[in-house]
Amino acid sequence: MALARSPLQGQPQEDGGELVQMALDVAGSLDPREVIARILERGTHAVRADRGTLSSLVDDQVVVEATYGRGGELTWVGQRYSLDYFEGQPLVKQAIESLQPAFGGRLALDQAAPEFRQALANVRQVAVLPLVHGGKAIGMLVFSRYEEKPFAGDDRVALTLLSAISGLALRNARLYEEGEAARQRADETAARLRAAVDAAEDVASQVRLDQVLGRLLERAAASVGADGTSLARLEGGEMVIESTPTGELVGTRWPLMPKVLAGVATGRAVELSAAEYTGAPPGMESVVQPYQRFLVAPLVVGGETIGLLAMGRKADEPFDPAAVQALQQFSTLGALLLRNARLIAQARDAEQAKSEFMSIAVHELRAPLTVTGGYLAMALEGDFGEVPKALRHVLETAQRKTEEAKALAAELLTVARLEGKALTPNVKPVSVAEAVREALARARPRAEIVQANVQMEPGDDVTVLADEALVGKILDNLLNNALTYADRPPTIRVGASREGEQVAVSVADDGIGISPQDQGRIFARFARGTDPLVAEKPGNGLGLYLSRGLAEQMGGSLQLQSSHPGKGSTFVLRLPAVAS
Ligand code: ADP
Repeated sequence: MALARSPLQGQPQEDGGELVQMALDVAGSLDPREVIARILERGTHAVRADRGTLSSLVDDQVVVEATYGRGGELTWVGQRYSLDYFEGQPLVKQAIESLQPAFGGRLALDQAAPEFRQALANVRQVAVLPLVHGGKAIGMLVFSRYEEKPFAGDDRVALTLLSAISGLALRNARLYEEGEAARQRADETAARLRAAVDAAEDVASQVRLDQVLGRLLERAAASVGADGTSLARLEGGEMVIESTPTGELVGTRWPLMPKVLAGVATGRAVELSAAEYTGAPPGMESVVQPYQRFLVAPLVVGGETIGLLAMGRKADEPFDPAAVQALQQFSTLGALLLRNARLIAQARDAEQAKSEFMSIAVHELRAPLTVTGGYLAMALEGDFGEVPKALRHVLETAQRKTEEAKALAAELLTVARLEGKALTPNVKPVSVAEAVREALARARPRAEIVQANVQMEPGDDVTVLADEALVGKILDNLLNNALTYADRPPTIRVGASREGEQVAVSVADDGIGISPQDQGRIFARFARGTDPLVAEKPGNGLGLYLSRGLAEQMGGSLQLQSSHPGKGSTFVLRLPAVAS
């Protein structure tokens, strides 16, 4: 209170106390209205005036904020006047120019605005106090008395103090208000950024690109308050729509307008009015017609603009800067997604190329293998003359190995077709009992060699929607494994049961089982178990990989249901059931 103390010297104690209290009251609030009300109320009483009026000075304007009558009524006015208007009031002019209080008799009635004339008619004495901050008048307080009692020395000290405190309090209140507004704007920006982060998380949890982009667009439009939106990639001076929330227009080509091109060059979002958006291709004008405003943000990755995110608003209201900033966040996210999508597409193409290569290579391999196999068979049958005993053994081994190589080539071919998405199952109703019976018949010769006990359990009589040949292949693989991976004559049980919309076919054995570590990898390509017995048996590690792929291709699945080393394993094939 250093400011308050010096002018108070020489004041009667009572007045001093009252003034300090007034100062505290006035400065005690940060709400500008509250501050104005307190200045007027406390000031009017302190200087024994009949009326007090507070005005703000904003640029060249006077805003009459409020007026207070001694009777206790406070009126908020809010009327604006040009500062020139006060030219005719010398007291006001003097106070504002000198930044010092001015005192005098009545105000010039004939110069006053008509709405003030009546109030001014009673006025006999006036005090005009400039409210000063930073060497400038930011407002003024006018106190008036209806009696011919001039503002005396004591009053003037109090008024000078009041003017200083009021100037500060008003300024603080305004600053606080501006600070609050700025904070609110910052909060809004933070909320929008938060929305962008949420969107990123949400978007990242979607698996398919079209869903991901659709999600992104929805969130971006909601965040900036747009009614329509699209995401496009740039291709040779045009944009090609990659995604819209409804999927409409995808693949259409749009020219780039010069203003958008300029924005793209600077990496900034560009706002366009309906009049400026003239680039709809012929026949597509109706697409942009509902929108009055457009906001287009470039999608930039690593300094390269790869696409655009466009927003349309039906109302003719500009997008606010926070919205533009939010859109920038979304476009960064969109750019990353688009680039990832491209990388994925490239990887898919590479995978496809690899599968095609594999398929051609295997085809090339099969032809000589067939020829070799044929000659070996003929030689063993004596077509080329008597085969000496020692050579027969060699030829038999060569024939076995050639058959293994042919089997491998056939499997690799299936792998190539499966991975190259060139395998289309021929799906029709298939009786599971029938398919199992046929597979068991095919397995019988091998089962007899290992003295296996193979049983078909009486299960549900079920029909699946599947490719008969592929189901046969999967069952052959499972039975073959069950017969192979056993160190004593195995018992194998095959069962089938309905499970809601699916049919489960199980193949259970009591063989060597699969260790927990191996359980996690046996479905991978070329993966074989680590049990020493596995290495002794012929195999290439493709059977389960292929079988699972084929099952999935038919809308089913293949799983290892359970396995215990030394006790056996159960595999379950699930396929779509025919509705009964
Ligand atoms: P392959 O039989 O040619 O090795 P698979 O993909 O059919 O290839 O099987 C992968 C591995 O899974 C086998 O090497 C074996 O270790 C294990 N396996 C598969 N079926 C069984 C089974 N019924 N019992 C024990 N191990 C099995």
